[in-house]
Parts: sequence; structure tokens; C-alpha cells
Amino acid sequence: MQIIAQQLNKVREKMRAAERKYKRDENSVKLLAVSKTRSVEEILQTVHCGQLDFGENYQQEAIHKIARLSDHDITWHFIGPLQANKARGIAEHFSWVHSLDRIKIARRLSNLRPVDMPDMNICIQLNISGESSKSGIPAGELMALAEAVATLPGLCLRGLMALPAPTNDYNEQRQGFRRLRHYFDQLVSAGHDVDTLSMGTSNDMDTAIAEGATIVRIGTALFGPRC
Ligand SMILES: *Cc1c(COP(=O)(O)O)cnc(C)c1O
Repeated sequence: MQIIAQQLNKVREKMRAAERKYKRDENSVKLLAVSKTRSVEEILQTVHCGQLDFGENYQQEAIHKIARLSDHDITWHFIGPLQANKARGIAEHFSWVHSLDRIKIARRLSNLRPVDMPDMNICIQLNISGESSKSGIPAGELMALAEAVATLPGLCLRGLMALPAPTNDYNEQRQGFRRLRHYFDQLVSAGHDVDTLSMGTSNDMDTAIAEGATIVRIGTALFGPRC
């Protein structure tokens, strides 16, 4: 319990420090706690420290945890690879999807979103590191997919996500995030009402905040290394 509370405080302090350093508004960056592979008990400890946004990567694992934690006011974000045959569980249990990369999945999520639930918040995952990363769409496909998401019922286009190939080279990190922000600006110019840049993990959170992240997705720095 102590450890998670301490790590959470550390991450929060780092976020606030980065906001000040890069002249971002206070609390303009939101923490998404990435809880893949973590136990219900670990999530519960985090909830008790006031953290209510969690990100999960695997539909089956997530749905089990969501059921067990249904007494708590948690907002669940799906951030993992999307498969068409898993779309129903995601549409029925998550508030957000950060990893949309196909129009076919967008249509499925739209069809399967229960009508009595609020629109599902969608970020399109862009590949900003070229061949070294296989996830996300190439930038050339962005506008068509964004247009589709914006017009499908049950979905609300919120912005972009990226998971750049890991590097400790600060300049490389920064260029990747800057590219994502550039495409975000293009969405705005095209008239899309977007407000979310989901970028930055334990390893590159500061750089992402410098380049305009509004959501950082943090696992290891909160819960320790994954086995
Ligand atoms: C696992 C994961 C993270 C968290 O990474 P850490 O290095 O543990 O902070 C963030 N985003 C996505 C898409 C992930 O799969």
C-alpha cells in the first residue's frame, strides 16, 4: 500500500513539475494509470489514493477486473491492440479507446456501443516512428479515419495516441511527440473538435508534457516493473 501511494505521489509531483517547467497550465495533464498485468488489489490501493483513470491492454483480463471493481467510480481506457472479435467487450465496458487503427473496428465499436451508454471517447493511434513500430496507422491514413470516427454514432473523436519505439535519446523522443502534435493541429485545422494528445509513458513522460501531452500513460513508475 505504502509503495503505490509513494510512487503515485512521485509521479504526480513530476507531472506538476513538468507542467511548470514547460509553461503548461496546472493540472492540464491527466494521469492514466496503466494497470495491465496488475492485480485487482493493486488497482484498489491506487483507487484509494484518488486515482480513478485506468488503462488496460487485454480485453479478457480487463473485463474480469472491471467486474470486480464495479463498486468504484473508475473510468476505464482501452489502450491495447484491437481485434474485431473483442470489440463487443470493449464497447460494453470501456469509456475510452486510445488505440483505434482501423475503420472496420470503428464501425464495430459504433454498432456495439449500447445506446444507453455515453458516446465512447476515441483516440486514433498514429505510427510516428516508421518501421520500428508496427502499431498505429501511417499519417497518410489519418484524415479518412478521423472523418469516419467523427461521423459514426456512439463514438466521439477526442484526439490522437502514440506509443513511439522506446529510445533514451531525448531529441528523438521529442521529435516523435512533436510529429504527433503536428497531426493533432491538422485535425483541428480540418475542423475536428479534439482535445486529447495521449502520449508519454514512464520512460518519456517529461518530453511528452513538453510537447503538449494531455494524458500520460504510466505503468512501471507507479506499480514497478512488470514480470
Ligand atoms: C504498457 C503501456 C504503457 C505504460 O508503459 P510504462 O513504461 O509501464 O509506463 C503505456 N501505453 C501503452 C499503450 C502501453 O501498452
